[in-house]
Amino acid sequence: MSLPESIQNLIDEFSKLPGIGSKTASRLVFYLLNKSDQEVAGFSQAVANLSKGLQKCQICFNVSEDNPCNICNNSKRDKSKIMVVEEPLDVVAIEKTPYDGLFHVLGGAISPIDNIGPDDLRIKELIDRIKTEKGISEIILATDPSLEGEATAMYITKQIKNQNIENRIKSNIIVTRIARGLPVGGDLEYADEITLTRALEGRKEYD
Ligand SMILES: [Zn+2]
Repeated sequence: MSLPESIQNLIDEFSKLPGIGSKTASRLVFYLLNKSDQEVAGFSQAVANLSKGLQKCQICFNVSEDNPCNICNNSKRDKSKIMVVEEPLDVVAIEKTPYDGLFHVLGGAISPIDNIGPDDLRIKELIDRIKTEKGISEIILATDPSLEGEATAMYITKQIKNQNIENRIKSNIIVTRIARGLPVGGDLEYADEITLTRALEGRKEYD
């Protein structure tokens, strides 16, 4: 027996979400079916309105209601540090720690299996920032402690050192990598704030 089309469609959509298999997707859809029309409408409206009024900050590429975002725009932030992360959720995680510098959101990590190369990420934009923004003293690489995250951190370090900004970098800017206290293969966004704070404090110069 096949399911009614409207049910199957929604199951298919839920199944595309990360971490949701077809079983969970079916459960969610039948859960919604039992809800009142009003509740379902509220849910679908929230999905439909998700990206309204949101934009990417043109400096750090974090998702924000303002451009530049309220981190780039905050004069109290320490503008000598730029922390490089994969996703906006990583910013949310780091914001729970005492870190008060700036961010740069790559939009993912280098992953040949998923066909994601350096050009698909905001790496060139990072190099441009390093070249143009004044007073930067440290680039903190906080990509995930996974194969992809490590490959991305290595690639960025190479880029920074290979560029003709090399001389400026050598004298003024150090590149650090957050400490390995984080579980290998893990996701930065799921790390608790104590682990994150320790990983940050234990960061080392990265070569
Ligand atoms: Zn920003």
